Amino acid sequence: MKIRLASNLQCDSIVDGEGMRTVVWTQGCPRKCPGCHNPETQAFNEGFLVDVDDVKKEISSYKNQDGITLSGGEPFSQPEACYELATYAKSIGLNVWCYTGYTYETILAMAYENDIYMKLLQNVDVLIDGSFIMNLKSFNLKFRGSSNQRIIDVKESLTENKVILVPSYHQVDMGSDLYQKAEGIFV
Ligand code: SF4
Repeated sequence: MKIRLASNLQCDSIVDGEGMRTVVWTQGCPRKCPGCHNPETQAFNEGFLVDVDDVKKEISSYKNQDGITLSGGEPFSQPEACYELATYAKSIGLNVWCYTGYTYETILAMAYENDIYMKLLQNVDVLIDGSFIMNLKSFNLKFRGSSNQRIIDVKESLTENKVILVPSYHQVDMGSDLYQKAEGIFV
């Protein structure tokens, strides 16, 4: 199986989720959000194709990583490949964060049509959902660009059948509490 990426994997990121992370920059996004932070990742025929097994090998080669982050681009536009990567990451003890322009509720609706979306969602620990909205942009938001986006504890949300946010990431005060690591939500 192949995945279309926008660029090489990026290890040691500390801005794309909690801890030290390896970021998978998927290529292709159906939206054109004004102010998109990665407009070069929007076209579905750009970037490059790579074998998912090679991406897995590269993920396993990086040391001292807490998890992977599926970003883009739109990871849910390549659900099979991202599902493969998410399950692999979890099998080697890494947690999985995922950025998506879809809302959590839209992904649940998509899952009625094709269960690959649910399979991917079930293997994501933390979902940052929603499109970037320029007039809601703020630099006081941790791990997200605009205030409409939510940092969602996926496992809790699926269990409770409603969106459960990771509360410590939703404080807009840049005080010390904001930087306390949320406990208990990672595998
Ligand atoms: S969803 Fe993300 S990658 Fe896609 S256009 Fe919007 S900001 Fe850019």
